[in-house]
Amino acid sequence: MTASPTIGVLAVQGDVREHVRALESAGATAVPVRRPREVETIDGLVIPGGESTTMDKLVRIFELRDPLVARLREGLPAYGSCAGMIMLADRILDGHHDQQTLGGLDITVRRNAFGRQVDSFEEDLRIREIGPEPVRAVFIRAPWVEDVGPDVQVLASVHVAGGDHPVAVREGNVLATSFHPEVTGDHRFHQLFVDLVRTS
Ligand code: GLN
Repeated sequence: MTASPTIGVLAVQGDVREHVRALESAGATAVPVRRPREVETIDGLVIPGGESTTMDKLVRIFELRDPLVARLREGLPAYGSCAGMIMLADRILDGHHDQQTLGGLDITVRRNAFGRQVDSFEEDLRIREIGPEPVRAVFIRAPWVEDVGPDVQVLASVHVAGGDHPVAVREGNVLATSFHPEVTGDHRFHQLFVDLVRTS
């Protein structure tokens, strides 16, 4: 793998620009992915935050769904934030009745899990893999992880409603966060992903 891997950011909807910036500052070459042939040229994939129901519709309309699913099955490293976490989840709760995900991550995700009262909030999380300084986690109508498969590592959880709910997970070279590290200017999470792509 080259020192500057090419990382695609799924660019059908959502906060694409913020991820491109974060990836570039973490030493990657970031490219927007809108066409099927662009899926072939990337060493890793980021799926941004946005609205997973819309993203699901658009990846089908843009004929990106099949190539993306194929590359994820082959082991393409991937990172999804918020709506991107939903897109990578194998199973979804509280999705639209016809909503599909791309899959690749052995988790069950609950959409809009924190409820209408707590649309958005911020919290400092300690994530060992990121370093000793806490990560400022920004949650916007976020999902949480309801259930994880045996090979999934929980990197961070949030304690609400009497329970601990995972909000950052990793399975091999697939990462997902319920929150948006791309909006804070702290690029350590993107650095973790870029390093992971480099060593994959
Ligand atoms: N609630 C959105 C969804 O279901 C996710 C929100 C976000 O990405 N900030 O896709």
